[in-house]
Amino acid sequence: MKKHNFYAGPSILSEYTIRNTADAIINFADMGLSLLEISHRSKQFQAVIDEASALVKELLDIPEGFHVLWLGGGASMQFCMLPYNLLAKRAAYIDTGTWASNAIKEARLFGEVDVLASSKEAGYTYIPKGFTIPADVDYFHFTTNNTIYGTEIRTDPDAPCPLVADMSSDIFSRPIDFSKYDAVYAGAQKNLAPAGVTLVIVRESALGKVDRPIPTMLDYRTHIKKGSMFNTPPVLPIFSALQTLRYYKELGGITELERRDIEKASYLYDAIDSSKMFTGTVTDPADRSIMNVCFVMTPEYKHLEAGFIDFCAERGIVGIKGHRSVGGFRASLYNALPLESVKVLVDAMNDFESIH
Ligand SMILES: *Cc1c(COP(=O)(O)O)cnc(C)c1O
Repeated sequence: MKKHNFYAGPSILSEYTIRNTADAIINFADMGLSLLEISHRSKQFQAVIDEASALVKELLDIPEGFHVLWLGGGASMQFCMLPYNLLAKRAAYIDTGTWASNAIKEARLFGEVDVLASSKEAGYTYIPKGFTIPADVDYFHFTTNNTIYGTEIRTDPDAPCPLVADMSSDIFSRPIDFSKYDAVYAGAQKNLAPAGVTLVIVRESALGKVDRPIPTMLDYRTHIKKGSMFNTPPVLPIFSALQTLRYYKELGGITELERRDIEKASYLYDAIDSSKMFTGTVTDPADRSIMNVCFVMTPEYKHLEAGFIDFCAERGIVGIKGHRSVGGFRASLYNALPLESVKVLVDAMNDFESIH
């Protein structure tokens, strides 16, 4: 039985992505060689990375003046690489979760960091509001989707300075207004590809403004100049990313992906809100993530939480255990997850509730 995969990351990929990757591992581009054993400088692989970059630009409607990079090191590497390249003096951040606070910690190594707001004292269960983004900062950094806590900022804020965002877990789930951004980055393993590659989209004119020397591998300009091939890029995840991007385009692009994601999330949130047994940890609907839905059992039923995980496992539902720092449940509804899987989960919730 094919499982219903709700893992938070690495996470579900489309069958199209996995099959084509499996085929290429056996015989890549009819070369009679595996994708795992060819030169990244072969014309066949050059075609892969070129098409992948072009599709990112097309799907996200990225204007002129931006570069698409495929880098190693994960989103966590960007927590330091980004301020290394863009933070000349002072930057503003908001603290909306573990990833955001990791980014803040690294940025402090490079300059002054204003933490404008934090929801830490409330267990990061909401998105802070009412803060003012200063004009005299190099950039304002935020995490669009807080994967662990299930909160999300689904609009591009109006700011008097350039925006920079960690979009690791919700990129390709909504249109983005790139005119507001200097840089966006995303680890691939949530909505794009297997782990190992990070997508970075950076504005040319944002670079070259810091005085510090930057190590070659951590300088965006190195990778721009060499088309992400200064060193050996993560060949396999880039190939898989291309498959996912082709699949996204075939489905109808970002607006269709967003429609599907909202449909899936609404279906699950409606079930949680109408249940006596389950309750959402994020209460303001405006802050609720459409990618990661976090919920717990109400105090009366709390002792049944472990039992529910087992009950789900019997139905092929995997990956719904909440992050160890939050507890309860987290259902990740990334682009590749079908609505049918959400319906199976909701049926399990309803059945479990009527048994108890
Ligand atoms: C998963 C995740 C990260 C960490 O990504 P790595 O590639 O493991 O470094 C960072 N930010 C967000 C929002 C994430 O969801």
